[in-house]
Amino acid sequence: MTAAYKYVVVGGGMAADAALRGIRGQDPNGTVLMVSQEIFPPYDRPPLSKGLWKQGGRVENVWRSLDYNQLRVDLRLGVRAERIDAAAHELWLAGGVRVPYERLLLATGGAPRELAGHPRGVTYFRTVEDYFRLRRAMLGGHEAVVVGGGFIGAEMAAALTLAGKHVHLVLPEAGVLSRLLPPSLSAAITEDYAQRGVTVHAGHQVTHVEARGDDSWRVVTDAGAALDASGVVAGLGIVPRVDLMTALGVDCPDGIVVDRLGATAVEAVYAAGDVANFPSPALGRRMRMEHEDHANRHGECVGANMAGQEQAYDYLPFFYSDLFDLGFEAVGRLDSQLATVEDWVEPQKRGVVFYLEDQHVVGVLAVDLWDRMDRARALIVDGEPVGDGSRLRGRLTG
Ligand SMILES: Cc1cc2nc3c(=O)[nH]c(=O)nc-3n(C[C@H](O)[C@H](O)[C@H](O)COP(=O)(O)OP(=O)(O)OC[C@H]3O[C@@H](n4cnc5c(N)ncnc54)[C@H](O)[C@@H]3O)c2cc1C
Repeated sequence: MTAAYKYVVVGGGMAADAALRGIRGQDPNGTVLMVSQEIFPPYDRPPLSKGLWKQGGRVENVWRSLDYNQLRVDLRLGVRAERIDAAAHELWLAGGVRVPYERLLLATGGAPRELAGHPRGVTYFRTVEDYFRLRRAMLGGHEAVVVGGGFIGAEMAAALTLAGKHVHLVLPEAGVLSRLLPPSLSAAITEDYAQRGVTVHAGHQVTHVEARGDDSWRVVTDAGAALDASGVVAGLGIVPRVDLMTALGVDCPDGIVVDRLGATAVEAVYAAGDVANFPSPALGRRMRMEHEDHANRHGECVGANMAGQEQAYDYLPFFYSDLFDLGFEAVGRLDSQLATVEDWVEPQKRGVVFYLEDQHVVGVLAVDLWDRMDRARALIVDGEPVGDGSRLRGRLTG
């Protein structure tokens, strides 16, 4: 058994790190333990698929800035939390170590979804170790295969191309980010990728991956294409890591269900970040968000609540991406199944897309237009009916 802690945080990601700041903002002296199965201390994930592949990108810059010694937080890295004894207020770590807690936070994020058959040689891109593995694989190689047309796949295809590699992008959808973006924008981005040298295999799936010697792989698609590559990267989404809660008999349909303070159904246990299924008053629904701003804000808010504050999380987070030289920011729900109103300053390059449901704005995407998120958020939160949305034109482009 270790010493008892007032606060135990499971997870070494951005939500866990932000929670430490939240706890310390309320309680400067309570004992805190962070347990992470990663061997590295917390770091920012977004640069792994963007800046680190650009000229001058430095891995030293990804580490989070908290000084854990100064904050008097104990870290246990490379250790998995395996079980909660909720009645005894104890967390069990790998190796049979028992840690008594007063308050427990689960900021366990998600595990990457894998290709059917779990072929060897595929990097499911999520951690700084994945970044190092792919860097090493691509050291002498020129050819890469990227699987998936969501954020990670789209960003990795762009990053590897910018790093001078030739990329095959294999995605089951019709185009890049087509589950989120209106067809006109997804088509324009997909065309831009092709013009920049990415070989796009849209509408196709990987059937299998074969080893070709020690450091080369052959990826075969359902169209019969055989793509030889030094590095194979997949971004197929994540599955929230809820096992610590389901083992207690708690139902976790899409993540760990929390209330507005971040508390779960289990006494003294909280959840935050990618893993948490939280109520969004602005959108009038429960949701999970897999984005940086949410991990930071939710982590900090829930950490503070664990330490006695009672602040409801009613913030609507924004998110962003970089695809070659196209950057965007967004807030609310981006779903290409929703009705959209497109308001372009320059078609498919600079402008705003509004996502509507029942004549209300539920999401806003600003393409190459910055500092629009506060106004976009206000449009969603105000909840004013906007009819067919035509009157939204010009609201955020000016
Ligand atoms: C490559 C990449 C690029 C991204 N780019 C962007 C972007 O441009 N914009 C944006 O808004 N968002 C981006 N994101 C998403 C953003 O990084 C995530 O939303 C955020 O990292 C979630 O933080 P989290 O702490 O909730 O979860 P995670 O970062 O997944 O952290 C969970 C942590 O818990 C640990 N853990 C899990 N289970 C256990 C256990 N049982 N015991 C011990 N430890 C455990 C994990 O190992 C991990 O350290 C990106 C993500 C990735 C992977």
